[in-house]
Amino acid sequence: MNFVVQLSYLLAAVLFILGLKGMSSPRTARKGIMWAGAGMVLATLVTFLHPAVHGLTNYVLIVIAIAAAGGLAWWSGRRVGMTEMPQMVALYNGMGGGAAAAIAAVEMLRALRTLPNDLQVRAEALAADADISVQAATAALRAEGAGSVGIAGALGADVAILAILGAFIGTVAFSGSLIAWAKLDGRMKRSQLVPGQQIVNIVVFALAVLFGILTFFTDSALVVAVFFALGLLFGVFVAVPIGGADMPVIISLFNALTGLAVGFEGYAIGNPAMIIAGTVVGAAGTLLTQLMAKAMNRPLTNVLFAGWGSSEGASSEGPAGEMKDISAEDAGIMMAYAERVIIVPGYGMAVAQAQHKIWEFVELLQDRGVEVKFAIHPVAGRMPGHMNVLLAEAGVPYDMIFDMEDINEEFAMTDVAVVIGANDVVNPAARDDPSSPIYGMPILNVDEAENVMVIKRGGGAGFSGVENHLFYGENTRMVFGDGQKVAGGMVQAVKGL
Ligand code: NAP
Repeated sequence: MNFVVQLSYLLAAVLFILGLKGMSSPRTARKGIMWAGAGMVLATLVTFLHPAVHGLTNYVLIVIAIAAAGGLAWWSGRRVGMTEMPQMVALYNGMGGGAAAAIAAVEMLRALRTLPNDLQVRAEALAADADISVQAATAALRAEGAGSVGIAGALGADVAILAILGAFIGTVAFSGSLIAWAKLDGRMKRSQLVPGQQIVNIVVFALAVLFGILTFFTDSALVVAVFFALGLLFGVFVAVPIGGADMPVIISLFNALTGLAVGFEGYAIGNPAMIIAGTVVGAAGTLLTQLMAKAMNRPLTNVLFAGWGSSEGASSEGPAGEMKDISAEDAGIMMAYAERVIIVPGYGMAVAQAQHKIWEFVELLQDRGVEVKFAIHPVAGRMPGHMNVLLAEAGVPYDMIFDMEDINEEFAMTDVAVVIGANDVVNPAARDDPSSPIYGMPILNVDEAENVMVIKRGGGAGFSGVENHLFYGENTRMVFGDGQKVAGGMVQAVKGL
């Protein structure tokens, strides 16, 4: 039976890898999700046959857990709006890290429970062999160090190290992701810098390392509990100060950490599906973290330790000049007579669910011979690939969608750059103002276009909280209103020509 179980886990791991490969392109993403989902169902079902899971109580508990968690996920997954997706992804990622840490906790507590049993068994054997009392045998064994060999003694050094590492990484990913969720959901301020934050972080990290080492040797549940608490605390302290535009980096990092934690715990409990799936997610998350850090033009260490991205130190002076507005109809007509148009979508397009109307507008422009392209900033929206998903959903062909580095030079040769619900990713302060908290982040150079149309509801700042001088530019016109309504107005105007 164990052979069937292990083989099924391997098959599940293959399905995870196929799933991840499918998810690497919007074309095959849906199929990828199905593959990965099938792998997860297989891994879950086959666990019922695992030799370690026997006894009616275990089966009942597993079924209750699956029904409760699965039911909740089904219900919330169906209800969640497109704009709430990023926070849901952060939440689910945190659950993965938490689950890995919970596995570590169970293994460690089980090890602690078996320690006294081991000692008892060995003492009884010694007492019988040496014809002494059990107490005397226990004392003799204790004098030799038995019974205090700790978790490492019970689990084996290699398993204990990986279980401890996985526990730390999993707890950090769990609590950090919950903070990311709270920030993305608007339940928490985006960046909170506590005085001496870096020192506090270093002290908590050092204590966590110390208690990790103690956990290796300990036979005390209290030490293990303190170690877990320090991991949770460290995750909170890492995530709380990160704000502004740096959130995507930290979200991808937590994603990588969850994968790593799952992989480590897979080794600890000898589960190949977890080892392979965890390693693959860890590797993919690490690559994504690197990509996001590159997109922000910041080394990861800087994001984590420098407190950048907070609005502290932002220039207090508001932009000079006035915003000039234009109606949706006039904006649409102007574009109908342009030769080249580039559309830059941002988070606001997701909020307005304007992608379908925008695509309808673009098709009308194309019918009139206007060349239209979409430009996507890597951190636009609230999750990696957010804009690509929306445009794919609306049916925009992939060959019309360009990454920042491939299109940035074209703005200077463009008649109209249309910014729909984007803000930080087109903020010239990131390029021109060294005192700005987002200085150094590469942006889409929309201000180089001959005309810029910015579609948004008001003149306020974006996610980073940094004011945007683009809106006051000589060549900028603000098209105030909800993205979908404005796009609808532009469609009507062009249809009426
Ligand atoms: P942004 O800076 O958040 O700006 C979005 C703009 O959309 C807002 O200024 C808002 O202005 C406008 N908006 C909101 N609802 C709208 C509606 N119904 N119709 C029209 N406009 C609407 O967006 P972004 O330029 O895409 O930049 C993304 C930011 O999020 C970056 O700072 C990035 O670092 C951060 N972030 C990204 C990720 C990721 O993985 N991509 C994750 C976390 C954080 P009004 O209120 O005036 O309408």
